[in-house]
Amino acid sequence: MAVPSPPPSAASAQRTRVVIVGAGPAGLTVANILRAASVDCVLLETESREFIEQRPRAGFIEEWAVRALEQRGLADRLLEQAQAHSECEFRFAGESHRFRYGELSGHRHFVYPQPLLVTDLVRKYADAAGGDVRFGVRDVELHAVDTDRPSVSYTDPETGERRRIDCDAIAGCDGARGVTRASLPPEHTTVARNDHGIGWLALLAEAPPSSDCVVFGIHPRGFAAHMARSPQVTRYYLECPPGDDPDNWPHERVWAELRGRLSVDGARPLAEGRLIEKRVLDMHNYVVEPMACGRLYLAGDSAHLAAPIAAKGMNLALHDALLLGDALVAYCGKGDDTGLSGYSAACLPRVWQYQEFSQWLSEVLHGTSSGDPFRAGSAAARLRRILGSPAAATAFAELYIGKVADY
Ligand SMILES: Cc1cc2nc3c(=O)[nH]c(=O)nc-3n(C[C@H](O)[C@H](O)[C@H](O)COP(=O)(O)OP(=O)(O)OC[C@H]3O[C@@H](n4cnc5c(N)ncnc54)[C@H](O)[C@@H]3O)c2cc1C
Repeated sequence: MAVPSPPPSAASAQRTRVVIVGAGPAGLTVANILRAASVDCVLLETESREFIEQRPRAGFIEEWAVRALEQRGLADRLLEQAQAHSECEFRFAGESHRFRYGELSGHRHFVYPQPLLVTDLVRKYADAAGGDVRFGVRDVELHAVDTDRPSVSYTDPETGERRRIDCDAIAGCDGARGVTRASLPPEHTTVARNDHGIGWLALLAEAPPSSDCVVFGIHPRGFAAHMARSPQVTRYYLECPPGDDPDNWPHERVWAELRGRLSVDGARPLAEGRLIEKRVLDMHNYVVEPMACGRLYLAGDSAHLAAPIAAKGMNLALHDALLLGDALVAYCGKGDDTGLSGYSAACLPRVWQYQEFSQWLSEVLHGTSSGDPFRAGSAAARLRRILGSPAAATAFAELYIGKVADY
């Protein structure tokens, strides 16, 4: 556990009911739920508003999450603008196989870039509802999280002064690189990790989608994927060595590899365009258990990271945030602690279903290029099973779209 510095003096202290650390999808959803229930809260974010409204990341939101946002009045623009996807395509051994998961599960994905969702949630919280959000804060520290009087301190970016906010609870929504996770006592916390041992070159191309669905290209040279983001922008991924330098991937090499790994007879040629994002992600996952200690509750990537193999991270962040927001409202409004005390246990079944599915899918996508004939044979067997067995196809479809019960 990080050694906490003493909190600043009471003279600079303020009081609120809940401090939310991090204005990503998780923190903003919690903030909106609290604001709608008139629970006082302060949202702290290290970056600027402009930065978080443009940071490109996720794009696929599962239908249950969209409906939950809709019920809370948080999905107006999403429902107007998002495209619904209900099919994906596997390309391997020179052939293409459509997989209609919408028909099998009754659920769809909504394609809506994460920066648009973040923009909508900031507008709703800060502009429409007058919520308190402080951007650009520095050196955030948590204090006394194991008591009923925790506090959060930070440096004000304008004055350079330390500020302290006393509260009843802290929502740790500061993502994979935040500070809140370090306040969980290591003796009562387990961190389960899985490193896939591969990298993905994550690309955003200023080019229209070249297919009407997600395309998974399974190829001996490495996995590749195509995912629509908007009519003008497409996300692509290329498997690469972990820690690879994006500069090893000039424009020509990127497009040659994408063509090589995604081409099959009869497929539309890839529409090429300028690469506006190019970075290497090392594929790893972790889960922190329990997701709470005292009056600190983690939500989203701060509690669990899912490599973007199955497009699960933002969906899990929303699932946590919806549960945490409601539990905080019950606690702050009626003193009902039931939701908060059961929060971690309520989140973890879905977290583990998604983690296991990501790991399973990772083997399907990367076995062929692993160089290990056993893994390659197993990956091909899995693919044949989901394409050939109706029961296996339905099970896959339900996990892929997140239609999982809390088993
Ligand atoms: C390339 C890529 C593609 C992806 N695609 C998908 C997809 O299609 N579907 C999907 O579901 N998921 C996807 N994900 C994962 C998804 O983006 C994350 O799971 C999601 O952003 C998690 O939301 P969050 O709110 O928990 O954390 P974040 O979005 O990381 O937000 C945390 C916030 O906390 C702030 N912060 C950090 N430290 C501090 C601090 N000390 N104090 C205050 N604030 C702090 C950060 O600036 C940030 O704004 C993808 C991820 C990547 C990288």
